[in-house]
Amino acid sequence: MIFDLHCHTTCSDGSLAPAQLLQLAADSGVDTLAITDHDTTAAFDQLDLSASQPVQLIPAIEFSTTWRKIGVHVVGLNIKPDSDAMRAGTHFQHRVRQQRAEQIAEKLCHAGLPDTLAGAAALADNDNIGRPHFAQHLVNIGAVANIRQAFKKYLGAGKPGDVKQFWATLPQVIQWIRDAGGTAVLAHPDKYNLTRSKLLALLDDFSAVGGQGMEVISGKQLPQLTRDLADICQQKGLLASCGSDFHQPGQPWAELGHFPTLPDSCQPVWNHW
Ligand code: AMP
Ligand code: MN
Ligand code: MN
Ligand code: MN
Repeated sequence: MIFDLHCHTTCSDGSLAPAQLLQLAADSGVDTLAITDHDTTAAFDQLDLSASQPVQLIPAIEFSTTWRKIGVHVVGLNIKPDSDAMRAGTHFQHRVRQQRAEQIAEKLCHAGLPDTLAGAAALADNDNIGRPHFAQHLVNIGAVANIRQAFKKYLGAGKPGDVKQFWATLPQVIQWIRDAGGTAVLAHPDKYNLTRSKLLALLDDFSAVGGQGMEVISGKQLPQLTRDLADICQQKGLLASCGSDFHQPGQPWAELGHFPTLPDSCQPVWNHW
């Protein structure tokens, strides 16, 4: 059985529309798919959750938040998109995302790149503007050679277009997920450049406010990392999740449904549903 519990559509920064992503999941042999767009559940408005499909679809979200001023992501799996909590959460995040986009544009302007907001907005469906849309716009206008350069030069942590401290707090996003009937999972713990002791501290804080699981597998990764994360997951008594973090076909880190399986020591998050 293939469970891919982390991927994106055009409702955030993915390149495939929800129905196209679902078709790709079916073609790729995925049995259960959680769509986890950044701070929105709009994909589920476009899909029929009650229809019987070759792929079991799990409503989900990837919330942006911060921990000790570091940007971190929390996946909410098996949430009710129409719940009051999800409505409140996505509405709040949409508003701060919009404010952040304005600030990013202002900062880029100071860095010599004027008028980037309209260009980024034109690339974002659903008015859900993210840094990848700014990155693509900078590529389109020839300011940088590629997306990687855009993050390296302008949009990554600590760069001129990086805006912090805008998102809902960690306890708040976990509360929204739990109130919407979902399971809160720390996304891609290896992506935050934390020391081991800092990661353990993050997981303690995460658990203390209701976090229930962590991604032991995020896309292609080395067996040593999988062993490490599985040990940490077990040590902290957390449920284990796995996913590709798929954004577009041909991305370097993983195709949809293509990643190592969870080690036997893990308690898979889907057994909890
Ligand atoms: P945002 O939600 O606006 O903060 O944008 C975060 C998204 O940007 C991530 O989910 C990735 O899809 C993308 N991203 C972050 N860092 C990089 C990078 N260095 N290169 C390419 N894409 C990145
Ligand atoms: Mn993304
Ligand atoms: Mn993420
Ligand atoms: Mn993601």
